[in-house]
Parts: sequence; C-alpha cells; structure tokens
Amino acid sequence: AVIPVNIAGAPYEVRIEAGLLAAAGKHCRPFIRGGKVAVVTDERVAAAWRETVEGSLAAEGIASEWLVLPAGESTKSWENLARTAEWLLEQGVERKDSVIALGGGVIGDLTGFAASMVKRGCGFIQMPTTLLAQVDSSVGGKTAINTAAGKNLVGAFHQPVLVLADPLALDTLPPRETRAGYAEVVKYGLIDDAEFFAWCEAHGSDLLAGEAAAREHAIAKSVEAKARIVAADEKETLGLRALLNLGHTFGHALEAETGFSDRLLHGEGVALGMVLAARYSVRRGLMNGQDAERVAAHIAAAGLPASIAALGMDADGAKLTAHMLHDKKMDAGTLPFLLMRGIGETFLAKDVELADVAAFLDAELARG
Ligand code: NAD
Ligand code: ZN
Repeated sequence: AVIPVNIAGAPYEVRIEAGLLAAAGKHCRPFIRGGKVAVVTDERVAAAWRETVEGSLAAEGIASEWLVLPAGESTKSWENLARTAEWLLEQGVERKDSVIALGGGVIGDLTGFAASMVKRGCGFIQMPTTLLAQVDSSVGGKTAINTAAGKNLVGAFHQPVLVLADPLALDTLPPRETRAGYAEVVKYGLIDDAEFFAWCEAHGSDLLAGEAAAREHAIAKSVEAKARIVAADEKETLGLRALLNLGHTFGHALEAETGFSDRLLHGEGVALGMVLAARYSVRRGLMNGQDAERVAAHIAAAGLPASIAALGMDADGAKLTAHMLHDKKMDAGTLPFLLMRGIGETFLAKDVELADVAAFLDAELARG
C-alpha cells in the first residue's frame, strides 16, 4: 500500500510492503543526490538489517556511511543529539540531502530532530523497524529527545520526505515489542473506527502470529488514520491530533510509576490506559459496560495488561494521579481527558477532576 500524507508544503508517501528494506536502494534513489547517504541506526537493528539495507543501497550505486548508536530509550539524549548532528555534518550532509533513520521510534525521533537542525533542516527518510514506529512515530513529523525535566519535552516538527514500512522487519522484533506496538493499532479503532476495532478482534491474533496480509492491513489502516489526523492538524493546534493520545494519560502515569522501565513498555501502558479510559467512561455514564469489557477482553487476548491490579504496583489513586499533575495540559485541578461514548467514539472531555480519577483508580485497584 502507498498512503499519501498531505501536509501543506511538505507532502510525502508512506509505502507499506513486505520486502521494502531489501529494495530500499530503489525506493530511496530519487531522494538521494550523488552516490552517498548517511544512515543512523542502533546496534540491535544493525545486527538484524544493516547488511540488507547496505546491500540494496549499493546495488543502486549508493555508498552508505553508518552511525550505529546503543539501543534503548536513553539514546534519545542531548549527548546523542549532538553526536548525531556533528556526525551528519562530518559526512558533508547538505540541506538538499536526505539522511536515513533505520530503527524504532528512538532512532526515528533522534535522527529526525538532528535532521531538523543540520543546515537548518535537511531531508530524512524514515525506515521504521518496530510496529510502534511503523504505525505511529514515523508518520507525522514529531521528533524529540528526553531531558532531565521529562520525556519528549525538547523537539521539533520536521516531516520526513519518505517512509518505508516493511512488515518483514517485524520478523526479528521481540514478540513483546510487537504486542506493545499493537496497542497503538487498536487505538486507531477505538478513536473513530469501530469497524477496524472489530477487524482487530477477528484478525489481531493473525498479525501477532506474523501473518503477512494481516500485518500489512493493520499497518496501512493505522497509517491512513494517523495521516488523516496529522494532515488536518499538523502542529496540534486544533485538538484533533490530541485524539492520538487515547489511553496515554493513564498510560503515562503508569509508566512514570514504574520508572519508565522494562517493567512496563510504552505500548503496554497505553493498552492498560485505554482499558482504564473505557472503564472511567462507564463510571461517568458515557459508555456502556459491555463495550468497555469488550475493549478489556481484546487487550487481554493480545497478551497485553488489562488490569491495573495485575501489575503488582505499590500505588494508589492519589499517587498515580500525582504523575498527571505535571501534565503540560493541566489547568486548575482539571485535565483535558480523552473519554469514550462507545467503541470508535472518542472525544476530549474538559471537565475531568483529578480527585474523581483518583477515586476511580482506587476502585480499580481494589477490584483485583
Ligand atoms: P525502540 O526504538 O527503542 O525499539 C524497541 C527495541 O527494539 C530496541 O531495543 C530496538 O533496538 C529494537 N528493535 C527495533 N527494531 C528491531 C527489529 N526489526 N529487530 C530487532 N530488534 C529491533 O522503541 P519503539 O517502541 O520503536 O519507539 C519508542 C519511542 O518512540 C519512544 O521514545 C517514544 O517517545 C517515541 N514515539 C514517538 C512518536 C512520535 O510521534 N514521534 C510517537 C510515539 C512514540
Ligand atoms: Zn503512544
């Protein structure tokens, strides 16, 4: 599939097809001047995919220089931002050049941010290798690093010139990472596409088992949804793009409580966060209980956490909502919160009181 992202002034395509990494040279050729390109990746991705990508670039007469960074969230740092920008300059990258980000969201965010600064903005090509990066972070142009003050608080909007999402990349991804990325796929169904949520219920297990057609369909539907939302609200000024944060306020609090560690991956926090958003919507009389339990059942069936008690956290509602207090959207004791009127009917509620959320979380912890 080819999904256009119609950003005013900077449109680009997301191509989704098995075998794209092995054909990367052919797809990148029109975006690369001369016979040289700079590629940023991490150690794990390099071990699995460097040979394939390097070979396919070489077959098109493109020599590649590689910056291989450590794997992991801590790579999104000031130090690596400086290192990457300096390295790109050493490679002689010019404004009209495009550099390649081969990896998950960490490499995409860091490389995209470096590309936004080098020569005040050079081109970059996203080659996302995790499900999360393919369905979410590689599309939309948000780039960022983490700082002492928190995650993703320093960054830039910088759109890629091309995105190549190869479902075969997921063959080497640890299954837990694939499941975590799958939470973001389910998210698009819950936001505004009940039919796609039903497809997930029927075919999500095929995707997780590695079935090619299911992977491609899920990635294409997700990218279509994300492309539609970001094209309508590129810089998050209209509140549309906020819909993409369904499950993320609860999820972020859970991630913060577990120290942003391997105990709870981002997608796992989002999965449980969506279940909590659904159940909180029931508490508010917005959504019916069966629909919320349908969400919980699918999250559990996908091998993702669907109950807060099962996380075995030593926390209560007050402690968890304290993490929400730092939210940049917080306003006088209330927080704009994504709630649901039903599956595929997410909206931004502006009147949610943190004290009520805390009471809800205590009840959730007690229900076991
Ligand atoms: P990641 O990039 O850390 O990748 C997860 C792990 O999988 C890493 O260890 C990586 O080395 C490994 N890996 C990646 N691809 C592989 C492959 N094909 N085979 C084997 N191993 C592979 O994490 P992620 O989940 O892709 O991305 C998370 C990041 O994305 C976070 O920093 C988050 O803030 C960011 N993000 C950004 C946006 C955005 O809009 N820019 C949206 C969502 C998330
Ligand atoms: Zn997310």
